[in-house]
Amino acid sequence: MPLMKSWVESANSPDHPFPLNNLPYGVFSTEGSEPHCGVAIGDMILDVTKAEAEGLISLGDAPLFDVPFWNELMEEGPAVWAALRERLIALLSEGAEERVEVEPLLVPMAEAEMHMPFAVSEYTDFYAGRHHATNVGTMFRGAENALPPNWLHIPIGYNGRASSVVVSGTEIRRPWGQLKSPDHDKPAFLPCRRFDIELEMGAIVGTPSDGPITVQEADDHIFGYVLLNDWSARDIQAWEYQPLGPFQAKATATSISPWIVTKAALEPFRTDTPAREFELLDHLKDCGPMLYDIDLEVALAPEGKDATTIARTNYNEMYYSAAQQLAHHTSAGCPMNVGDLLGSGTISGAEKSQRGSLLELSWGGKEPIELDTGETRNFVEDGDTLTLRGAAKGDGYTIGFGDCVGTVLPALEDPFAR
Ligand code: CA
Repeated sequence: MPLMKSWVESANSPDHPFPLNNLPYGVFSTEGSEPHCGVAIGDMILDVTKAEAEGLISLGDAPLFDVPFWNELMEEGPAVWAALRERLIALLSEGAEERVEVEPLLVPMAEAEMHMPFAVSEYTDFYAGRHHATNVGTMFRGAENALPPNWLHIPIGYNGRASSVVVSGTEIRRPWGQLKSPDHDKPAFLPCRRFDIELEMGAIVGTPSDGPITVQEADDHIFGYVLLNDWSARDIQAWEYQPLGPFQAKATATSISPWIVTKAALEPFRTDTPAREFELLDHLKDCGPMLYDIDLEVALAPEGKDATTIARTNYNEMYYSAAQQLAHHTSAGCPMNVGDLLGSGTISGAEKSQRGSLLELSWGGKEPIELDTGETRNFVEDGDTLTLRGAAKGDGYTIGFGDCVGTVLPALEDPFAR
């Protein structure tokens, strides 16, 4: 599919992240306005709350966009998702009759502040990148025990906290936690010394379920995707993770990009999961291309300095798709809700430059990476700004995700001060 032309000129550039082919969903405010729903088109945001109030968008009896989140649209189901996309394309296409009514509802993106695009009902994070799992397993347990015996048979995950998910731009405070280094006898409560990022994609469940669903059903239930940074305290993690997995190491914050890129916009970029070493059990078997060809990168900017791109990889590196993760998640009967967020797991490629965490890039702090500024990094330092970017490259157009940004603040001097 080629570029679809819009009367919003900035949307027609082959490199612009938000062409008519994309139409991602966000929540924004401008000076004096409360957060409400918008759709990105070029350098502008279409105020869909107003468009609905003025009758330009009408999808049912009750309004869907009088709330500052996209969950109500998701609850309407795939037929209404498709109807909205079709209507938005009609309103914003080159030559649209409604242009004169729609144009006053556009707001320059530069004047908008972005908010959480949806209410996160629950949050689960997976561990489904093979290169990442192999690298981390090698560092934590040795090369011979790198991949646990279950890893090639089920997507490993843990239940995270919806309350810790924040939108891009939110500052991240370095956490305190219980640490124990191998050369000390006793654990101590200290500011994290090995604060890290994880480059991930987040899949958003748009259709609820109550009981096991198939991989195909799971794919149908996914509404869209965001970029996701799973901030990780490696020293807390190393001490706490056995036997029940990460807990406080992942409790500080998880940042997501502000725009939900719909599954519909990503359809042309579907790719297969990699060849399987072991045949998966029937309920997890691949049944079509359910990964996506999305270029991803991580940039690190020390405070007040230029950014260096420290990693480049692709979502197609994952061993399990979000659909397989969702199917697995439901297999023991767990009900899933509209607004459930599933983190993919860290996305790393085979090469050193393709690693999606500093833990891997600096090999546990043993091989510091060099920045363009001449500085080096083992882990994230106070004042560093970390930016995740994602883009699918189409025929004369780009499906961009909107940056997922977070700046790290120093740990509090005394976290218990009142
Ligand atoms: Ca993670």
